[in-house]
Amino acid sequence: MKILHVSAECYPMAKAGGLGDVVGALPKYQQRAGHVAQVVVPMYRTPYLYKKEWELVHQGRQQLGTYQFSYSVIREKSRELGFDLYLVDINGLLDRPKVYGYEDDPQRFIAFQLSVMDWVCHWTHRPDVIHVHDHHTGLIPFFMRYAYPFRDKLQGVPSVFTIHNAQYQGWIDWQHRDWLPPYDEWKSGLIEWAGQINPLAAAVKSAWKVTTVSYSYLEELRHSANGMEKLFEYERGKCSGILNGIDAAVWDPSTDPLLVKSYGIDQLAPGKQANKESLCQQFGLDPQKPLFTFIGRLVHEKAADLLPEVIHQCMHHFVDRMSLILLGSGDSTLESNLHQLAQQYTGRFGAYIGYYEELSHRLYAGADFLLMPSRVEPCGLNQLYAMRYGTVPLVRNTGGLRDTVVDMGEWQGFGIRFDQASVEDIVYSVGRALDLYEQNPSKLQGMQRHIMGFDHSWDRSAAQYLELYQSIR
Ligand code: ADP
Repeated sequence: MKILHVSAECYPMAKAGGLGDVVGALPKYQQRAGHVAQVVVPMYRTPYLYKKEWELVHQGRQQLGTYQFSYSVIREKSRELGFDLYLVDINGLLDRPKVYGYEDDPQRFIAFQLSVMDWVCHWTHRPDVIHVHDHHTGLIPFFMRYAYPFRDKLQGVPSVFTIHNAQYQGWIDWQHRDWLPPYDEWKSGLIEWAGQINPLAAAVKSAWKVTTVSYSYLEELRHSANGMEKLFEYERGKCSGILNGIDAAVWDPSTDPLLVKSYGIDQLAPGKQANKESLCQQFGLDPQKPLFTFIGRLVHEKAADLLPEVIHQCMHHFVDRMSLILLGSGDSTLESNLHQLAQQYTGRFGAYIGYYEELSHRLYAGADFLLMPSRVEPCGLNQLYAMRYGTVPLVRNTGGLRDTVVDMGEWQGFGIRFDQASVEDIVYSVGRALDLYEQNPSKLQGMQRHIMGFDHSWDRSAAQYLELYQSIR
């Protein structure tokens, strides 16, 4: 089967979070299973672009309102990722270093989607399925069926829409309706939600199938979906949950080149300790104490706003019993608070404010516990990476965290789960982790070995996506 993934992110070309990881890994596994999987993302100016050789495959023109623009499509020559990676270049819109965060993001992603549609219409290769991801590509299923320039060629091609995060919906005011290509006017309701053009809603209504990245997240969206709850209830028949996997080649402690010492299950204790010592040296911490880490975007969804108070309380209640390293970026007030706390609690709390892929690998390897108190977590990859590296996750009971972590108090449990995104619940859970570390090291080691042995690779989930494609082909 021939699958085309259209996304705003694809690791290692462009990654801002889990979406990049998923789109960088799933196609690789689909190729391995004997299918043709291809990926197209915008041609941002990221380091990966300059390291590789590319060939031009198509050039065209499109129109965004009154703005006429040219676009080009290039392909990575060596196919080193295990699938064809295509980039769309649009001068003045996509030629920027960051993936998101610009005022004209709506125009940037509409122009990208128009270019992809136009290119696919001219392509000799015809995908069997077009799989789009999150709101940045959410207008595509609508364009394929109802936009005059594309529908003749594409309305028979099935589309699948995967929701990695429904908090962000890409809202566009109706006054910008002319950014869209001409379409059946009487279908306008398909792109609208709550009085605005809503690309996430457009995809849920227009795609042939919709998936979320865990089962529990799909259930939760019916009750809490940033205003779209009723739509998820109404469209429940075409929605299903498929849990994300991890790229077991990139995230493997026994081969990971970013670690100071690689280790398998048999060398878990010395391997982890060596990585921990190097981190503790870098951040001025004591390597004999249990090390906790938080890695992620500093935003409300991740409950990052609770972290300063959690850190104060942990440093008071658990004096000299623990160390913590935080890696993250996001809310600027929070960033500076955390920076100050790192100075206030020197020797016990270290912070790296920013995005640092290499450090994230070293933290998954060197930490004993990973903290994930998320308010919303569609799947969560951090806990899966942590487990692969023998790091026990402390997670809130939500979304994909609920689907992948079982509390150690339950039968065959291997992590710590708590119900509320509150300072009290988080600090209490840290206390449980410390008791485990200090009073029951053999149980802790058993848990670490157990979680390292899990197979969270993409094989199973990739097969589920293929079944889904088959069902609509
Ligand atoms: P989300 O996509 O909501 O941010 P996920 O858990 O699905 O959350 O994926 C987060 C991914 O981003 C993981 O690969 C994690 O290691 C990575 N990540 C998050 N913040 C940082 C950071 N500051 N530096 C390096 N990697 C990060």
